[in-house]
Amino acid sequence: MPSFFDSQAPSIARLPIMAALVLCSALPALAQDKVLNLYSARHYQTDEVMYDTFTKTTGIKINRVDADDAGIVARLRAEGAASPADVILMVDAARIASADALGLFQPIKSAKLDAAIPANLRANASADGVTWTGFSTRARVIVYDPKRVKAEDVATYEQLADPKLKGLLCTRSGSHPYNLSLFSTVIERLGDVKGEAWLQGLVNNMARAPKGGDTDQIKAVASGECGVAITNTYYAARLLKSDKAEDQAVMGKVRVVFPNQGTSGTHVNIAGAAVAKHAKHRDNAITFMEFLASPFAQDYFANGNNEFPAAKGVKIDNPALRAMGGDGFKAETIPLSVVAKNMTKVQQMLDRVGYR
Ligand code: FE
Repeated sequence: MPSFFDSQAPSIARLPIMAALVLCSALPALAQDKVLNLYSARHYQTDEVMYDTFTKTTGIKINRVDADDAGIVARLRAEGAASPADVILMVDAARIASADALGLFQPIKSAKLDAAIPANLRANASADGVTWTGFSTRARVIVYDPKRVKAEDVATYEQLADPKLKGLLCTRSGSHPYNLSLFSTVIERLGDVKGEAWLQGLVNNMARAPKGGDTDQIKAVASGECGVAITNTYYAARLLKSDKAEDQAVMGKVRVVFPNQGTSGTHVNIAGAAVAKHAKHRDNAITFMEFLASPFAQDYFANGNNEFPAAKGVKIDNPALRAMGGDGFKAETIPLSVVAKNMTKVQQMLDRVGYR
């Protein structure tokens, strides 16, 4: 049995509540219900093993609702205070921050999460605690065609705006959450004036109008339509692990760069979770969040989507990530909470510079 968990016994803080519930057995059983209602935007086979282990260890049964991020937000808003959701799993800081801004989460206090997860991968702490927490990270990297672009010309995000790369750059929509998150931290570093000029430089360098997803950008570099593009690491890892010859051929034609290694570090984003505003099983929800930070769950959570663990000191081995240089790269440390702060401003900049 994996020893991921050192808190199978109720914490001291929760004991009086549980004792009261045992004594008043005629009361409707709420807090002691061994149930957790999870709304998840993640759907990976390995997650099943993780959830089963949680249930076996804690006795808490997980009822899961699968939807995409937008679907989860719509559902939570429609359900309001009647929502059965206890924990919400979402991907990308921009999406989680948006849901947080709608008041869909509640702050929690957990010494275990405080110790395990770096503060820059969580929402800003208030006196009441922290709303969302990142449980895995994905790096937003540069892919390029070594026949057309020199490695030293694509070592940083800033260089993507250099006129040297005119007619070579491909990205998905500027307004996609992955790009909004990246641009939010770049603009946090550069400031508004230089940041907007940088976005203008990206637009000036476009090989074509933004379209498609990250995988499409990688394939467009391999096909020669683009010379350089931006992608999340897990998309490149999926192609590297693919048993299709055409995917292997794609990865054989491109190179991956972890940008800004000599300066601010590579931008990382998160898949994360939060306790729902109207959670009916709050203690179970916190127990589940703490479980997600355990080394056991981190392995499944990160590896399930070729991501990196978020918890401090947890190492996992993923050959595809290692092959592209993902071992021990320098990650950006700007708090991802700046994504929430800068998102509207960045969207306005994108509109002004004509970045669709
Ligand atoms: Fe994705």
